[in-house]
Amino acid sequence: MLKNTAFLLLALLVGCSGLEDSEQKKIRKMNAIGEHIYRSHSEVLFAIPEPKQHVRENYPWEDSYVGNQVRITKAFFQCKGSSKNAPITRQHNGQSVYVSDCGGTLQHSLPLRERKEFVYPVLIDILNYIQEKTQKKVVITCGHSCPTHNTYSAPAKCNRTSKHMIGAEVDFYVKGLEWSPQVIVGFIEQYYKEHPDFQGLEKFTHFERYEKETNVSTLPWYNKEIFVKLFKKDEGRDLDNDHQFPYLCIQVKWDRDKEEAVTYTWSKAFNNYLRY
Ligand SMILES: [Zn+2]
Repeated sequence: MLKNTAFLLLALLVGCSGLEDSEQKKIRKMNAIGEHIYRSHSEVLFAIPEPKQHVRENYPWEDSYVGNQVRITKAFFQCKGSSKNAPITRQHNGQSVYVSDCGGTLQHSLPLRERKEFVYPVLIDILNYIQEKTQKKVVITCGHSCPTHNTYSAPAKCNRTSKHMIGAEVDFYVKGLEWSPQVIVGFIEQYYKEHPDFQGLEKFTHFERYEKETNVSTLPWYNKEIFVKLFKKDEGRDLDNDHQFPYLCIQVKWDRDKEEAVTYTWSKAFNNYLRY
C-alpha cells in the first residue's frame, strides 16, 4: 500500500514538471520577436588577410652550425697564449734573456675596430666555407697572436711583422684532410669563384703563384684579397704549430670594406687591443 502511494506521488511530480516546461516554451514563443539581420554580401566587420606561408626562422643554436660543424666565429681566433706556459730563455745579443707568454684571453682582447673585437671577416668566411664543403672540422692553430705571445711562440725575424698580431692572418689544417692541404687550396679558390660578390672580377677569382723567395718551398697562391702559404710538415714550426701536419696560412692583403691594403704597423699591433 505504502509502495503504491510513493509511486503515485512520483508520477504526479514528473507529470507536473513536464507540463511546466511546455507551458514555458509556449509563453516564450508568444513573446518572442523576430528580426531579420541585414548585411551585404561583401560587408565584413574585420578584414581577414590572405594567409601567407611563413618560413620558420632558425633558432640560435641552428645558426651555430655549418654543415655538421660548429660555425667558426671571431672567438675561434683568440690568442693561444697562456700564463701556464713557463718562461723560456733565449739568446739575445750574446746574453740569455727570459721570455714570458701572455695570459691569453684572460688578459687581453682581440684587435679592435670601431670599439669592437675584430678579425677580418674574409678569414672567417673562407674557413666556414671549407667546413661546409668538406664537412670536416677546421682546426685553427693560430688566429690572433698578441705581440707578447708572438715573441714567445714565433721568435723568427720574419714573424716580427706578422699579420697574426692585427687579426689579418690565420694558420689552420683540416681534420681528416691533414695530408691534403692542396685540396683545401682548391676550395679557397672555389670560394671566390662561387661567391656572388666576385662574379666577373678576375682579380679575385683568379689566383697567381708568388715566385719570389719566402720561407716555404711550395709557391704561395694569391689574388687581390689574400695570400696563401702552404707549410710542409717540417716548415714554419713554432709553438702554436707544434704539430706533425702540414698547414695552411692565409694572410689578408686587401680590406674589401675600406678599400685599402692591409699592412702591419707597430701601432696596430701594440696599441689596438684591450689589456685586462
Ligand atoms: Zn696573447
